[in-house]
Amino acid sequence: MDAIALDPRLRHAGAFLAKSHRMLIDGKFVAAASGKTFAVTNPATGTLIASVPEGDKADVDLAVAAARRAFDGGSWAKVSPSERGRLLWKLADLVEQNLEELAELESIDNGKPYAVARVADLPLAVDMFRYMAGWATKITGSTLALSLPGEYLSYTLREPVGVVGQIIPWNFPLLMAAWKLAPALAAGCTVVLKAAEQTPMSALRLAELVQEAGFPPGVVNILTGFGETAGAAISGHPDVDKVAFTGSTEVGKLIVQAAAGNLKKVSLELGGKSPAIILPDADLDAAIAGAASAIFFNHGQCCCAGSRLYAHKAVYDKVVAGVADIAAKIKVGPGLDPATEMGPLVSDEQFARVTSFIADGRESGARVAAGGGRVGNLGYFVQPTVLENTTPDMKVVREEIFGPVVCAQPFGDDDLDAIARQANDTIYGLAASVWTRNGGIAHKLARRIRSGTVWLNCHNVFDASLPFGGYKQSGWGREMGEEVLHNYTEVKAVTQAL
Ligand code: ADP
Repeated sequence: MDAIALDPRLRHAGAFLAKSHRMLIDGKFVAAASGKTFAVTNPATGTLIASVPEGDKADVDLAVAAARRAFDGGSWAKVSPSERGRLLWKLADLVEQNLEELAELESIDNGKPYAVARVADLPLAVDMFRYMAGWATKITGSTLALSLPGEYLSYTLREPVGVVGQIIPWNFPLLMAAWKLAPALAAGCTVVLKAAEQTPMSALRLAELVQEAGFPPGVVNILTGFGETAGAAISGHPDVDKVAFTGSTEVGKLIVQAAAGNLKKVSLELGGKSPAIILPDADLDAAIAGAASAIFFNHGQCCCAGSRLYAHKAVYDKVVAGVADIAAKIKVGPGLDPATEMGPLVSDEQFARVTSFIADGRESGARVAAGGGRVGNLGYFVQPTVLENTTPDMKVVREEIFGPVVCAQPFGDDDLDAIARQANDTIYGLAASVWTRNGGIAHKLARRIRSGTVWLNCHNVFDASLPFGGYKQSGWGREMGEEVLHNYTEVKAVTQAL
């Protein structure tokens, strides 16, 4: 194996990266049962930054058994809701105290600019733990009035679903761990979480903070390993009561199949092909900047990226020129370089995927208004790319690219149903943005668009209180907000004849 090559710009995360890495199972830091490890690389250079345990089925079995003991044996059930809240709040404090280190880990592991991790990923993760800390004491049932003859007392209890398997992606590694862990723990579940193989570092550091916060053994287990082995072992495990997954629609379907064995509950936050729709009366400067940020934020590696840009023909040329101009000026470079605005894609695989989509777009007749190529010849850098002259049947318009590539199309229609039909012409339904000064039109379109989120005059606005998730093939259930607690609770109806 190559020697570890750490970026000299690292100021906080070097010591952690240089450590020997272990997974958290049953309150202890352990190597994989097989002894195997796998390499973690810096996407800006392709060089090794760490080796981490290659957890697989044997490790998942140990983690699930520990989570089962903590759940069934009652060590977690005996912890009061307020104590669960206190532990989550403590974890939030610890994440906040280690913000710079965690932001550096995200940057060197995922490729995103350090500043973005520092001001977006990390504060949102801290907020998620705090927001859910508040919910731990507020999960309630209701009393019900029956219409049967006789007198009854009926009420519902909302109970934790049990042992939860959680499988997360690489685009916001720590934030996705927070989105998953915080509500499950607030609800009283125990957890086996697997980090994405491309970006395991911040989850392993988070595991240390989980220990420091004082969660009882087995309540939180954090594993590193590959999807086809460790991930599949979680989603197929007979002793896991529920699996929560964020990732591609393709893998989401595999999770559903694997979950069928014991009919475990499933929640899925999957892909998207989200439209950004610019009407002729929009504040064009704001709309152009917003549409550019909708696709280029996090290098387009967002399930809700505004990857289909629809602009009214009256403003289309100006919008495309404006977004292309912003694209051309984005400073692409290593995430740890303070001047960088966009880092590399996460892996060679994503680089190959995104560049092949761009090639396919060109071949099928799209015109490249900006970008279209790679940057440099080291690492996985792709230029922010604007494709225009695209048509609804093109692969680049239909499929999720998950990179900094937007497909622009004009529309001539002022009929809101027709605009919404175009926006809804996709198997996905995760998010959309509408840009207009007309509040009535904005809200009418919000009703007509079939997606879990509609942003009006903004895009990519997240908050722990806002439910997020998809219609259609973008998923099942919602992350965040009060809504996510439904993913992690069962409802029990209790009736007494009086
Ligand atoms: P991407 O295509 O963006 O890499 P994936 O959907 O492949 O996203 O991966 C998201 C997460 O799902 C990762 O943690 C990965 O290890 C996991 N995963 C991949 N394949 C499977 C599978 N067959 N079963 C369970 N988890 C999987």
